[in-house]
Amino acid sequence: MERSTIVRVHEGLHARPATRFVKLAKSFESEVEIVRDGKAVSAKSSVKLMLLGVKEGQEVTVRAEGADAIEAVEALIGFLENPRAGLDDDAAPQVQTTPAAVEAAKAPPAGPPAAAEGKGLAGIAASEGVHLGPAFAHFPPQIRAENRKLAADGIAPELERFRAAVDAVRARMDKALADDQLAEGDRGIVAALRDIAGDETLVGDTTETIRGGLDAVSATVATTARLAQEFGAVEDPYLNARADDMLAVGRQICLALLGQDDASLDHIPEGAVLIAEDIGAWDLARAPLERIGAVVCGHGGATSHIAIIARSHGIPAVLGLGARIHELREAKEVAIDGNSGAVIPDPDAQTRAAYRKRIDEAAAERTALEAYRDTVPTLADGTVIEVAANLGALEEIDAAREAGAMGVGLFRTELLFMRHMHLPSEDMQAEIYGALAKAFAPAPVIVRTLDIGGDKPIAGIEFPEEENPFLGWRGIRMCLDRPDIFRPQLRALMRAAVHGNLKVMLPMVSQLSEVVRTRELIAECETELKGRGVPFGQFELGVMIETPAAVLIARELAKEVAFFSIGTNDLTQYVMAADRLNPTVAGLNDVSNPAVMTAIEMTARAGKEAGIMVGMCGEAAGRPDLIPEFIRMGLTELSMSPASIPRAKKVIVELAKVAK
Ligand code: PEP
Ligand code: MG
Repeated sequence: MERSTIVRVHEGLHARPATRFVKLAKSFESEVEIVRDGKAVSAKSSVKLMLLGVKEGQEVTVRAEGADAIEAVEALIGFLENPRAGLDDDAAPQVQTTPAAVEAAKAPPAGPPAAAEGKGLAGIAASEGVHLGPAFAHFPPQIRAENRKLAADGIAPELERFRAAVDAVRARMDKALADDQLAEGDRGIVAALRDIAGDETLVGDTTETIRGGLDAVSATVATTARLAQEFGAVEDPYLNARADDMLAVGRQICLALLGQDDASLDHIPEGAVLIAEDIGAWDLARAPLERIGAVVCGHGGATSHIAIIARSHGIPAVLGLGARIHELREAKEVAIDGNSGAVIPDPDAQTRAAYRKRIDEAAAERTALEAYRDTVPTLADGTVIEVAANLGALEEIDAAREAGAMGVGLFRTELLFMRHMHLPSEDMQAEIYGALAKAFAPAPVIVRTLDIGGDKPIAGIEFPEEENPFLGWRGIRMCLDRPDIFRPQLRALMRAAVHGNLKVMLPMVSQLSEVVRTRELIAECETELKGRGVPFGQFELGVMIETPAAVLIARELAKEVAFFSIGTNDLTQYVMAADRLNPTVAGLNDVSNPAVMTAIEMTARAGKEAGIMVGMCGEAAGRPDLIPEFIRMGLTELSMSPASIPRAKKVIVELAKVAK
């Protein structure tokens, strides 16, 4: 029995949907295979399935043989044709990254300040924060494959030992999951490791190798190393990170076979810097995280499980040091900067003092600013200044809320597009924008339509080679030329607007016609959604003011839109004709330059005259030295990275006090 179909599952079958698909396949007795481009793999192995790399939009065949073959094919085809399939599964981890992490992942692990000063090492800045603490070197002995040949009568008992070891590892992980001792975010990671430990491919291939006469430890090492290599070779950072999971699970099975316990982190001293070649997510998740001051690893990148756990627990981490990690083995004390990737072993008195100062200042400021978390900054005349957050991913919602964000002033949708191997579908976008709007309702949430150009390539959009991508086919220009991309995004936004607090803004606007054309598209999308019977709401449409052209036609634009949001990052580079990424002209790239401040003031005046809201979402919105000036100009919304919010609120509150 076999049937073919086009895969509609969001992002295809990797991570969560793969685990869910396998679970479904396993509920049938029949042998089930999935075939893509002539390659067939068992539908009961998530490892094989992930490695097959089935993507949304591809054609696959499901083949089953056995008593319940018809039911199996029906159910699995139904799964593949359901865009939401696997999305509600809470067992597997949602391996996602913050924009900072994506930047870190792309950045080569070189160049942070300490390394430049010749004082230390440089790695991937994987979790922010500064720390200085005693070194805790964690280098458990390597598992050695002895490649022992088994006698014919030794094979059956060895297979039994292997099965028992796998069962023991799974049982330990199950116990950890049942015990409630794991943090919520780590639970999914451990659940995924547990699934890998019992995976048909890992267990099946190792069993075959043992049957061929190799001892169980060597067979496990061989299988997991091979699978790790296969995952490492796939062109997808999420799947690459699964290579480390294979090795971690292999190690646990080997230790169980050897009757050994892994070197424990139980006795790590308070505030220690954990130094390791690699730490399995399993080991880290059950370690006393509250005592770990920072993590430094030879392996790992910004999307690895170690990075995810460290970030979710606020532990600074520098990863990917490679073989240089061994230079830290004998260190007594280590200073680390999780923002720059610098790691300094046994810092001298001057460096220690500098780090201490930074740590103390950060702690004191954090405590002092906590008082402003729930403050609603209000000027002497009663005007409320909305201090909002700039976000790029749903995982940042909690941090924004904790910082006291009064809404979202900029949600950059490009990460959503960059993160996936192909263009995100309308349904997926609607779900994400909807979740964001709901999280902050009734506070306003401003989503920016796709702002991407030749400088940031994404799967599914061919960008021409451009001499000057910043002056090229980006933002609203690209979107209007590609309605096949723009329309689904607009429809998704209209669907998310049912929550009543969603606003939408267009990036890189330089002509009125761009707004007019967008409104036409919105009207067309409305007809389409009505035709499909899909519920949708209305949103306010605004524009970013980030080109000099937009400033110069601000009066005309203000008649067509509901709000302005000034993008000072780009506005500064375009007004000053100084590339925002070019360090040679960094001096010119200054918002406080009178030319840029005049452009901001012109925008504020045009908005005020038309009676529309004027806000700012460029980095300058969080600058304590400029906030008073922006308020004087009449801006009523300032949107910034969550970490800057409490300080900005304090500045506004003090400003209001002075005015009274
Ligand atoms: C800006 O240009 O100020 C802005 C907020 O947009 P981005 O930094 O994403 O270009
Ligand atoms: Mg911009």
